[in-house]
Amino acid sequence: MSQRKQPPPESIRRLDTPEGTIFYVLRRKRVKNLNLRVGSGGVAALSIPWNMSQAQAEAFLREKSGWILRHLNRAEAAKPDLLPQPPREVCARLLMEALLRVYPLTRGYGVAFPQLKLRSMKSQRGNCHWAQGYITLNTALCRCPEELRDYVALHELVHFLYHDHGPGFYETMDELMPDWRSRRKTLKGYGAALEAP
Ligand SMILES: [Zn+2]
Repeated sequence: MSQRKQPPPESIRRLDTPEGTIFYVLRRKRVKNLNLRVGSGGVAALSIPWNMSQAQAEAFLREKSGWILRHLNRAEAAKPDLLPQPPREVCARLLMEALLRVYPLTRGYGVAFPQLKLRSMKSQRGNCHWAQGYITLNTALCRCPEELRDYVALHELVHFLYHDHGPGFYETMDELMPDWRSRRKTLKGYGAALEAP
């Protein structure tokens, strides 16, 4: 077995190019070829074979720098823009308006208009207290766009019909808000806002 000192398997590096600076994660792996990924998090990741030199890796990045920076900038632009947290009364109005907008969708199912409570929640967007007839919405939703507030409000309303996330729940969501999956995906991008105090 060779005792030769190996370079670290993973490091974060910067590379200045005429087009701009690239920050990237360099990983040395048991691979035959270079593998470049530009993830949605705005970070590039380059995997290289163990025996490849740093200079070779950088030459590769320089060659692709225009493409990499275009992708990194696009990922940056796609980050959600958070609205400032409004005062509590405004927040209450925004969330009540969301509830009023989506409630008519469920009325045909016999859902009674619920009481709305607001709470700052760490990891949840809302809650349905179906037995007590009220829903709770996370005040951080005020920082998200209207269509996402509507999605969460409807999600909680549908829990009056289905208390779990079984097939009936999702079928009803599909029927009432056919694009709810894409809204949920967008909302995930707002995770940091929803964890805000
Ligand atoms: Zn739920």
